[in-house]
Amino acid sequence: MSLLSTELTLRCGSSCEICGAKSSLTPYVVLPKTGLNTEDLVALCDTCLDQVQMPENADVSHWRCLNESMWSTIPAVQVLSYRMLNNLSDQPWAQDLLGMMYLDEETQEWADALSDATVHKDSNGQILQAGDTVILIKDLDVKGANFTAKRGTAVRKISLVHDNPEQIEGKVNDQHIVILTKFVRKSV
Ligand SMILES: [Zn+2]
Repeated sequence: MSLLSTELTLRCGSSCEICGAKSSLTPYVVLPKTGLNTEDLVALCDTCLDQVQMPENADVSHWRCLNESMWSTIPAVQVLSYRMLNNLSDQPWAQDLLGMMYLDEETQEWADALSDATVHKDSNGQILQAGDTVILIKDLDVKGANFTAKRGTAVRKISLVHDNPEQIEGKVNDQHIVILTKFVRKSV
């Protein structure tokens, strides 16, 4: 776990910049920024960090705190709040907050930069990350390798094909193959 820089500690006042918790904090890089500048980071408590990284596990009641964080003057906090509200957009209150939220043009571009165009998702729409294990949901003929990767096969430690959100790579039968994300589901 990395520590907060002095600059970030001062900015957040030793509180989680999303929910305000005064627990141990981790600097979270708001992608696609690099994290080299403090402006790219949000100081998060463990609860927020876990759920930002695994949005499918989000505890809806915890995220009521977005009601306050969305009004932050810090663009990185605005962007993260906006994205979490979008993740929760099946909740009427989250819809209401999104409707009220205003981002300036540059911040809106940052917020939208991780749209479907760059995020790898499995057949259920779950976000895939490098290192995940996926299960094949159909038999796949592997071109050039003369075998069929069977439905139900687990592919461990996948990597993501950059610039193509529909493709991941992994090893099946000791062969390194490219797999379409629509033919896999994330293993939990
Ligand atoms: Zn928090």
